[in-house]
Amino acid sequence: MTCSFDLEHYSELLAAAARGGYRFASFESDPQPGDLLLRHDVDLSLEAALELAELEAGAGARATYFLMRDSVFYNLASPPGERALARLRELGHAVGLHARYPRAELDGRFDPVLAWHNPDPDYMSASVEGAANVMEPRFFSPETYRSDSNHAWRSGCPHEELQARSFEWLQLLVHPEIWVYPGETMRQTMLAFLEAERELRLRHLAEDRIDLS
Ligand SMILES: [Zn+2]
Ligand SMILES: [Zn+2]
Repeated sequence: MTCSFDLEHYSELLAAAARGGYRFASFESDPQPGDLLLRHDVDLSLEAALELAELEAGAGARATYFLMRDSVFYNLASPPGERALARLRELGHAVGLHARYPRAELDGRFDPVLAWHNPDPDYMSASVEGAANVMEPRFFSPETYRSDSNHAWRSGCPHEELQARSFEWLQLLVHPEIWVYPGETMRQTMLAFLEAERELRLRHLAEDRIDLS
């Protein structure tokens, strides 16, 4: 098994978690032994988030998607943004706020849970009024956390440890874009994302009755 950042290996990760007997949990309550908290920070693409969400639903997995209200890359208030939000809910996933410090502005679209975007250490683990912070001590310790940030596992791909049930519980942060778009490096993957965005924008232009002939 090669630990590539693609949907095939993502499915293998989910299967490994199932074989390890982990159960999918959210940030509603403190993690219990055997819990797998699947966390997705959606930095760039609702389309990538939806693709991952459909795959997870097909595999019986449940995750929490953290969406931005103030992304420069997507608009949650646009019709595709509203459809994405509705579809994530339909598939049974939880939706939290991916926020820029200090704007913890949750509204009815979000569960009361928040993940800061690119947080600084001084507020990263601090509690937040009215919402759970995914990096609070009860949800985070180095032994029970893995992240795929920038196309690299800092402490290794967790599939073997999941299968062997080596983690008491695990918060697993996966950025959908890294797995959905192909590439051997973050740069290649981002260029593939931009290709897909171009096609998407062309479609939006056509839907906006822009003459592209
Ligand atoms: Zn792996
Ligand atoms: Zn982020």
